[in-house]
Amino acid sequence: MRFHKLRLTGFKSFVDPTDLIIQDGLTGVVGPNGCGKSNLLEALRWVMGENRPTAMRGGGMEDVIFAGASSRPARNFAEVSLHIDNQDRLAPAGFNDMDNLEVVRRITRDVGSAYKANGKDTRARDVQMLFADASTGAHSPALVRQGQISELINAKPKSRRRILEEAAGISGLYQRRHEAELK
Ligand code: ATP
Ligand code: MG
Repeated sequence: MRFHKLRLTGFKSFVDPTDLIIQDGLTGVVGPNGCGKSNLLEALRWVMGENRPTAMRGGGMEDVIFAGASSRPARNFAEVSLHIDNQDRLAPAGFNDMDNLEVVRRITRDVGSAYKANGKDTRARDVQMLFADASTGAHSPALVRQGQISELINAKPKSRRRILEEAAGISGLYQRRHEAELK
């Protein structure tokens, strides 16, 4: 599985549809302070199922919707779509029937979030599991936020274990066991 495009619409400062093309090798994002570099990374985490407003630097989940500027009115929804190359067919069952996979998350004011995978309505949990199984995901150790290194150093053993489990790619199994125990 390989991410190759991220499209943001009405997400934070990206009011007009904006594509981030992720090519082979290293992709660098440069720009002045406040131009939206961190917002791009947050969009990636959000489409993979991030549900903690604090991780999105907001007070509530709707804070990701473009809030308006002097020349532009606020939006009613935000949408992020992630295009994934699945030619290696490593996506988990249920997502693995095509070479290309598109996961879309949309949040509408006063309605909440909805997800689609290749056009079909999908549960948040399934999207989270898809990425957890691919050892990426919203909480992936590959996505390092500012201040996260010191959090890791100061973490309690239990949360440090969770980080190691994510890195080992077994958190999908862990979530499934937890779900099975609830049933
Ligand atoms: P730095 O170099 O300082 O880290 P950055 O490029 O990472 O900056 P971001 O933090 O991604 O910048 O973007 C911050 C900008 O996004 C601010 O101008 C902020 O007003 C804008 N912003 C955040 N949320 C929203 C929103 N909901 N609606 C409109 N603009 C928003
Ligand atoms: Mg930043």
